[in-house]
Amino acid sequence: MPWPSESQRDTEVFGLIDKERERQVTGLQLIASENFTSPDVMEATGSVLTNKYAEGYPGKRYYGGNAVVDEIEAIAIERIKQLFGADHANVQPHSGASANMAVYLGLLKPGDTVLGLSLDHGGHLTHGSPVNASGILYNFHSFRVGATDERLDFDQIRELAIKHKPKMIVAGTTSYPRRLEPEPFRAIADEVGALMMFDIAHIAGLVAGGAHPNPVPYADVVTFTTHKTLRGPRGGCILTTAAHAAAIDKAVFPGSQGGPLQHAVAAKAVAFHEALQPSFKDYAQQIVKNAAALAEALSKQGFRLVSGGTDTHMMVVDLQPFDAELTGKESQLVLDEAGITLNKNNIPNDPRSPFVTSGVRIGTPSVTTQGMKEPEMALIAEYVAQTLRNRNNPAVIAEVRAKVATLCAKFPVYSKRV
Ligand SMILES: *Cc1c(COP(=O)(O)O)cnc(C)c1O
Repeated sequence: MPWPSESQRDTEVFGLIDKERERQVTGLQLIASENFTSPDVMEATGSVLTNKYAEGYPGKRYYGGNAVVDEIEAIAIERIKQLFGADHANVQPHSGASANMAVYLGLLKPGDTVLGLSLDHGGHLTHGSPVNASGILYNFHSFRVGATDERLDFDQIRELAIKHKPKMIVAGTTSYPRRLEPEPFRAIADEVGALMMFDIAHIAGLVAGGAHPNPVPYADVVTFTTHKTLRGPRGGCILTTAAHAAAIDKAVFPGSQGGPLQHAVAAKAVAFHEALQPSFKDYAQQIVKNAAALAEALSKQGFRLVSGGTDTHMMVVDLQPFDAELTGKESQLVLDEAGITLNKNNIPNDPRSPFVTSGVRIGTPSVTTQGMKEPEMALIAEYVAQTLRNRNNPAVIAEVRAKVATLCAKFPVYSKRV
């Protein structure tokens, strides 16, 4: 027998997977970087393609038996190029972080100067944080959001670009609720002769669905994750102009990765197919409408929205006006008990550390996939406020937990077992 018999099945891990499925579908999933991927995407992810070695690219592999895999990867590439209007795509990065590191490896030399958004003002670790390889290997300088409007300040970015003469400017954010206009980044990059990389990890699905400006016509390179608003499998992707195609492909393989995850590549192709359907436009628009409704309902409950609101799928909530004692850390913990899952997040110029924080980040991609709309957003705001106001009262928390379960039962995520 090649594998253990049925009686030796790993009931421990499969039992835990059942438990996690239950957690996901009976609670509110409000983490801005998460989503519920389709049963088809999961089927491709769990397919025989996980067995295949395919180092190289379609038509140029180091192993035999890749005729089918080549077709699948070529389809994934064509679909994502069509979706974003790109010259060239690499669909092999294992994650968003791997995609970003491959771009730096392909287009920079260690020690080169780069400009990116500061982590504590909404940037990503891979945009030059000192604890990340990006900040260790390259000379990153950070820009910050404006002190009063909490939005990107292009005068500041331009000043820093003129002062530091970066080889590359990295646009893109991980906890910034506003539209990212590509034109001003391009103008600054052109003025100082820098390359422009746009990391749309969070907003790729909004861009694909026409609910956010597309940076592809402006940027030299665009990177993103496939598992956030784009609603695909966990993974990364890089789009480039023809001029940088060869350097980027070389930097992904053999530069920074070995064998690609072809089950993930196939699942990406399936997700891109789904994102090309007209219904995905409705989905992307509804994510944004839901976020706007949730932001408004939360401000009515006494919370302050960083930058005053949102244009995207997410918001950063300043807890201080609601309750000066309440931290992001405590909010995350007590909301989880009420079946509401989100993450603590620093607000700009936060007096508390990143482990404690004075804010939380909230996103609507998952609840929108479930079919929730504006009326449900008002309920969610009410449940959040009720839980946090009664955070020392287990009876109220249990009451909210029951209401959350009732709401989620009305919007079942998966009709068949996945
Ligand atoms: C999520 C994110 C990434 C990293 O993606 P992983 O798949 O977690 O590595 C990179 N950049 C931005 C802006 C992100 O939000």
